[in-house]
Amino acid sequence: MTEVRVGYMCKVDYDWELGEALGGSVVYPSIKDLQRKEKAHDHCGIVKVKVTLEEVVKKEKRYTKKEIDKLKKQTQKESNNGKG
Ligand SMILES: [Zn+2]
Repeated sequence: MTEVRVGYMCKVDYDWELGEALGGSVVYPSIKDLQRKEKAHDHCGIVKVKVTLEEVVKKEKRYTKKEIDKLKKQTQKESNNGKG
């Protein structure tokens, strides 16, 4: 199973941060999206990257009913706070 996806990165992030930075590095789906989110990085340059899936090291976890109810309550609280 080899899955490859194409994306775009800040060139400085690619040169210096990818695989090093705690908190990760962002790969954007389009050049336009990168430019919109990283206006401050206009001088950095842009690189096109391919991300290859090597291995699933941990499968996604399904939410339990209890966890779903908890998330619903949090979302309701947040939307109520927004109105106040
Ligand atoms: Zn940058």
